[in-house]
Amino acid sequence: MSEEKVRVRIAPSPSGNLHIGTARTALFNYLFAKKTGGEYVLRIEDTDLDRSSEAYKQNIFDSLKALGLNWDEGPDVGGPYGPYKQSERFDIYPKYAQMLIDKGYAYECFCSNEDLDEEHRIAEEKKIPYKYSRKCLNLTKEQKDELKAKGIKPSIRFKVEAKELIFNDLVKGELKFDTGLIGDFAIMKSNGTPTYNFAVVVDDMLMKISHVIRGEDHISNTPKQILIYEALGAPIPKFGHLGMILAPDRSKLSKRHGATAVSDFIKEGYLTEALLNFVALLGWAPSDGVEIKNVDEIAADFRINEVSSSNSIFEYEKLNWMNGQYIKHMDISKLTDLAIPFLNMYDLNKYSRKQLEHIIEVTREPITLLKDLVYDTQYFFEEPKYNEVEEILKGDVAKVVLPKFKSEVETYDFNNEENIHDKLAELRTYFKENHGFKPKETMWAIRSALTGRTRGADMVATIQILGKDEVIKRLEKLI
Ligand code: GLU
Repeated sequence: MSEEKVRVRIAPSPSGNLHIGTARTALFNYLFAKKTGGEYVLRIEDTDLDRSSEAYKQNIFDSLKALGLNWDEGPDVGGPYGPYKQSERFDIYPKYAQMLIDKGYAYECFCSNEDLDEEHRIAEEKKIPYKYSRKCLNLTKEQKDELKAKGIKPSIRFKVEAKELIFNDLVKGELKFDTGLIGDFAIMKSNGTPTYNFAVVVDDMLMKISHVIRGEDHISNTPKQILIYEALGAPIPKFGHLGMILAPDRSKLSKRHGATAVSDFIKEGYLTEALLNFVALLGWAPSDGVEIKNVDEIAADFRINEVSSSNSIFEYEKLNWMNGQYIKHMDISKLTDLAIPFLNMYDLNKYSRKQLEHIIEVTREPITLLKDLVYDTQYFFEEPKYNEVEEILKGDVAKVVLPKFKSEVETYDFNNEENIHDKLAELRTYFKENHGFKPKETMWAIRSALTGRTRGADMVATIQILGKDEVIKRLEKLI
């Protein structure tokens, strides 16, 4: 490539919420731009007005921003090559289509949908791959005028020259196509809007995109796009096609496997840092084998030509594990901010911010998703439910331990965790020596009474956070 600046783009269609696969494509473009000091552009491909919606567009913006994949140029921030929304560029495409007609690379086609359906039917009957018949290729000016006079609006087709087309894919290596197998394809629809293949080339050309990095589901479009670049006399960008992301059962990743939209992952309590780290591993591998890395570390270690050309499996279990790791190690104040919206069924005002952070701190260890905190923090906010621990509370240990614990706890210094820790240790020793209770049994009785659970946050911290009044209240209710 010449010395020209790296310019990449992510070009989602707002016909759905941002898919995790598109997020991966966005990330790889972002990483490549970061690594090469290039620019990363967001373009909204909404030529299909029926399928596009403002809500999906907003979801795409919000999800990319949540992931930190902020763009240098785009519909909201502008830039020198705007507008960045195809529906605002509808006046641009016809000019280039006309240019191709004038140069003999394209022609008007008056075939109706019925005509084309019939051609498809015949091809199917003959069991041959469909190619447009070129019925309209050689219409005379008079014939065309006559059809237009009847009110028939033409589409515009690109005239495909049969040849061997070779390009070097950044990810897949050399790829060869026989363009003779591609029929003359539409570049403009009869309603005056461009087709995807045409709009994408005109925009990538005008936006000076140097590298097109996208999913391999677009590989079959690439020869068509290269033919258009050639016809327009425009420099051809480098292409890199990423392998697909498959579900654990190797089928197409879909909702039945779990969340697929970035916003749904976030709603379930995945951290965007974990999501980003995880999707990076769908194609990229760290050179030092350490998988947990932030986006800057990944960018530093990212080489597009080393990206795997094969499909990747979306292992939800691995994502869960990774999310748990991020939850364990995240700054506690940041984690608390993220956790609060998940806990809105509780009266959070019961506690100070510092105490809330403490609650999150002592409950985060085993969780994989933020929404797990709802269950794991419940007993801090609500009176415990005792059905799980009925046996323990009815048992001999509890009957002896709880009254004594209650009278002792009155003397605990609740501002001093060490004091609580030492007093509990003394209590365990006392019951062991005087009643032969195992330390574990003593603690089970106390935990069951205060939380209704046999497992949970550290007991000293739990007692301290609940506070003297609440601890005594819970004990009184049981004794
Ligand atoms: N709008 C296309 C998509 O969402 C973009 C494809 C491309 O990157 O060229 O799949």
